[in-house]
Amino acid sequence: MPDATQTTAILPDPAPGAEYDQDCARCARLASFLAEVRGRNPGYFCRPVPPFGPAGARLVVVGLAPGMHGANASGRPFTGDHAGILLYATLHAHGFATQAEGARRDDGLALLDCRVTNAVKCLPPDNKPSPAEVRACNGYLAADLARLPDGGAVLALGRIAHDAALRAFGQKPARFAFAHGARHALGRGRALFDSYHCSRYNTNTRRLTAAMFDAVIAAAARHLREAGADDGR
Ligand code: SF4
Repeated sequence: MPDATQTTAILPDPAPGAEYDQDCARCARLASFLAEVRGRNPGYFCRPVPPFGPAGARLVVVGLAPGMHGANASGRPFTGDHAGILLYATLHAHGFATQAEGARRDDGLALLDCRVTNAVKCLPPDNKPSPAEVRACNGYLAADLARLPDGGAVLALGRIAHDAALRAFGQKPARFAFAHGARHALGRGRALFDSYHCSRYNTNTRRLTAAMFDAVIAAAARHLREAGADDGR
């Protein structure tokens, strides 16, 4: 398995404005790890995982990176592993998804005015992308978040996603402290909401409960209503 501490070779920036490239292999360590995982699991997606949900949605959820047997296997963010159970159930409870379950890519789930993506589009070893890999992938996130309408909301799942989202908006992460339940103004009525990641570890240890997660998504939905974007949700 590639070592996160080794020097990470990063190729030049992707084309400006590109939101996704299914053949991207800028991060040598991740490209090599994906090839290794693909060899062991030929049925797995094993590519950069594209965002899910309509472009230009008013709520964008930013996770960390695809999970080995979740998004990396299914090809859809938060699909097929534990983290997606709470995420999609809660999005559905607040009117952002057509159904509460999202365990399979062909399950018919559609997102409503909501888009789900990751700060890093490729599976990292041990779920730990290097800082250079997070930076390398930030152009894709920035292109996606550039479509966020005025008054929109971004929900960052964990500190790495929080920092990546801020960088994507051209902000310095050090100026905005990550804290579960925090809300940060981004200008033009847009706001960044922070939550602990809905990972199995965080929910099993009750660092994040369903009620805590529900409260953050409720706050983001309230923000959209108060920004004059109420569609009856
Ligand atoms: S993590 Fe992002 S930048 Fe790196 S290879 Fe994957 S898609 Fe490309």
